[in-house]
Amino acid sequence: METDPTGDEGTITWREVLAETEHRVMVAGLPAQEAHWIVEEASGSGPGGSLDGPVTVRGRAHHDAMVGRRLAGEPLQYILGRWAFRGLDLMVDPRVLIPRPETEVVAGLALAEVDRVAAGRTDSPVQVADLGTGSGAIGLSIAVERIGTRVWCTDVSTGALAVARANCAGLGRPARRVTLAEGSWFEALPTELKFSLDVVVANPPYVDRAGDLPVEVVAWEPAEALFAERDGRADLEALVDGAPTWLAPGGALVLEMSPDQVGDLADRARGVGFDEAEIHLDLAGRDRAVVARLAQ
Ligand code: SAM
Ligand code: GLN
Repeated sequence: METDPTGDEGTITWREVLAETEHRVMVAGLPAQEAHWIVEEASGSGPGGSLDGPVTVRGRAHHDAMVGRRLAGEPLQYILGRWAFRGLDLMVDPRVLIPRPETEVVAGLALAEVDRVAAGRTDSPVQVADLGTGSGAIGLSIAVERIGTRVWCTDVSTGALAVARANCAGLGRPARRVTLAEGSWFEALPTELKFSLDVVVANPPYVDRAGDLPVEVVAWEPAEALFAERDGRADLEALVDGAPTWLAPGGALVLEMSPDQVGDLADRARGVGFDEAEIHLDLAGRDRAVVARLAQ
C-alpha cells in the first residue's frame, strides 16, 4: 500500500470506496465493472489485489478525478491511459483509436498469413507492414508473437506515431524488429520495399461520415482514425489498389472493414489482381475482414 505524506482518511478502505463508486457508475448507466478498474488504478492494487488498505488523500483525489471524467463521458480507456490488446498492455490517449476486440481477430488473421509465408521460408524474415497503426496494436502484436518477422508500423498522424513509439519502446527485444514511419498509406514506406512485403495489414478509417456512431466514440476518439470519404470506402480502396505494387508473390493483404463493405472490397481485390479474397467474421459473427492473396 502506498504511504502518503499528506496523511490518510484512516477509517475508509478502498473496498468501501468501491461500493460507493459502483453505485455511482450504475446510476449513470455504466457497468459496475468500470468502478473496479478505476479503484484498482487509484489504489495501485492491480487486478484482484487487496482493497482492504486505507484510502490515502492522494489516492482519493486521483480516484475522484477519474470518476468525474468518466461521468462526463470520457472513455474509460483514455482515463486509465492504457488498454489490453491480445497480450499487450498498450498506452492509449486521445491521439489514437482505442483498440477494439474485433481488431484482435484481424491481427490473428495477419498472424495466420505470417505463418503461411514462414512455412515456405527458411532464412529471411517475414516482412510485415501495419498501415495506420494508431497505438501500434496490430503491428506490435505481430512483432511480439512471431520472432521471425520484420514489422513496419506507419501512420499519417504524428501524434498517433508518438503513441506507437512509446508502446514499441515498452516491448524490449521485439522492438528491434520494428520500424515506425510517418506518411499516407504506402507513401510512408521506402521504395526498396516494393514487391517485397509478405503481409500488409490495416484497420483503416472505414466509417461513413453520414452514419451514426455512439456519441462516446464521435466525441472522444480521433476523427481521422474513424471517418473516410466515399461512404467510408476511400482508404480501403486505396489500400486494395496499392497493395499489389508492394506485396511479394504469394503475399497477403488483410483489411478490417464494416460488414456492408466486405463484398465490394473482396470483388475489388480480385479485380486488381489478387488470386483469391476471403471474407472473415468478427467475434459477433459479422463480416469484418478481407484476406486477399497474390499468386505465388
Ligand atoms: N491500427 C490501429 C487499431 O487497429 O487500433 C488504429 C486504427 S484507426 C481505425 C486508423 C488509423 O489510420 C489511425 O491511427 C489514423 O491516424 C490512420 N490514418 C488515417 N488516414 C491515414 C493515411 N492516409 N495514411 C496512414 N494512416 C492513416
Ligand atoms: N470499429 C470502429 C467503430 O465503429 C471503427 C474503426 C475504423 O473505422 N476502422 O467504432
